[in-house]
Amino acid sequence: MEKIKMSTPLVEMDGDEMTRILWKIIKDELIIPFVDLKTEYYDLGLVEREKTKDQVTIDSANATKKYGVAVKCATITPNKQRVEEYNLSTMWKSPNGTIRSILDGTVFRAPIIIDTIKPVVKNWKKPITIARHAYGDVYKDTEIRVEKPGKAELIYTDVDGNVTKNTIYDFECAGVLQGLYNKDSSIESFAHSCFKFAIDTKQDLWFSTKDTISKKYDQTFKLKFQEIYEKCYKEEFEKLGITYFYTLIDDAVARVIRSEGGYIWALKNYDGDVMSDMVSTAFGSLAMMTSVLVSPDGKYEFEAAHGTVTRHYYKYLKGEETSTNPIATIFAWSGALKKRAEFDKLDDLYNFGVKLEEASIKTLLDGYMTKDLVNLVSEGVKVKSLNSKEFILKIRENLEKSLA
Ligand code: NAP
Ligand code: MG
Repeated sequence: MEKIKMSTPLVEMDGDEMTRILWKIIKDELIIPFVDLKTEYYDLGLVEREKTKDQVTIDSANATKKYGVAVKCATITPNKQRVEEYNLSTMWKSPNGTIRSILDGTVFRAPIIIDTIKPVVKNWKKPITIARHAYGDVYKDTEIRVEKPGKAELIYTDVDGNVTKNTIYDFECAGVLQGLYNKDSSIESFAHSCFKFAIDTKQDLWFSTKDTISKKYDQTFKLKFQEIYEKCYKEEFEKLGITYFYTLIDDAVARVIRSEGGYIWALKNYDGDVMSDMVSTAFGSLAMMTSVLVSPDGKYEFEAAHGTVTRHYYKYLKGEETSTNPIATIFAWSGALKKRAEFDKLDDLYNFGVKLEEASIKTLLDGYMTKDLVNLVSEGVKVKSLNSKEFILKIRENLEKSLA
């Protein structure tokens, strides 16, 4: 069989530990035999980040800006223990954080759903995609613990020296204080990414904040979204028959639980952090969550939502058998190939991405799966637990059949 052609390279970001092992098997068994794969390769493994003083991460993000589509393997975010383990010269920043800030993007997380694994919320039939504004608010806050009575004030001095001053509270006792901020430019980028992704995936977009209580801060988010929607996206939304819907966060939570899914839910930073954990847990498994970073000018970086699965990697190093779920990483590849195909108008490549996903789902529905999924499957379904390599080879069998 002739291999499927590509015209523009994908930006390939390799990673660490167990997912690095899976990365190679996925490429060798599920991509390279079928696709004349073109990639510009960046090794974001911690060893190479140390060697290049993290320049490789910056280069990979700039390449994504240039080419428009990247696929990324999970990577270690160093902490103190990793500094010792890898003998690092410094505690390098999270690669995802670095890439996100260069692309100025928003992360969209969505579960991969199969019929034999029922979400905890019975009426959820379609994926709920969470879009989290990953900038500012409580993650960049300034806090003071006050120990005795006194006056807390919010003071802003602009570049011309004009001062705005508001009393926060006249403390009659000890207490706590917190200062938050966000920037119009960041909120606007967030809004553009959300509207673009909704159009791209033809799904409704929900957005929720607490603007009734936060009359300037959250209100700014609400107004910016509304303004950008009307000005740039309303027409396209109407043409596609999708809607933009704003509601208070409490109302949104109730509606999400009663819904059947199938939309994007955009949230401020803290709300997105909390709600994405709730939604992903209720859908079943972190190993079945995809993640895509979308920049406001429409560049895409695909990855799995989970980490490098360190616990499995240490077992692997000891020569023990591991059953790590490769599905989210496979979908990162299929997502990136499909997006590349869309940009370059390559139907065969697009169909390959679809067939790779179908073969993966069929394998799961046939009862073949990795260990992590076995206990999540509905009662009465016959399952066979496989190690990672065996599972990927089963997917390959199905893929070969469907491509033949
Ligand atoms: P993790 O790698 O997501 O794994 C946490 C646990 O979740 C695993 O021990 C495993 O549970 C289960 N799990 C996750 N993915 C799985 C899969 N594909 N198949 C089967 N089980 C899976 O999170 P972590 O252990 O907290 O972090 C490990 C490293 O990943 C850290 O260095 C962190 O910095 C990094 N990280 C990277 C990213 C990223 O690059 N996007 C994201 C998060 C974390 P059991 O042990 O019970 O089997
Ligand atoms: Mg969290």
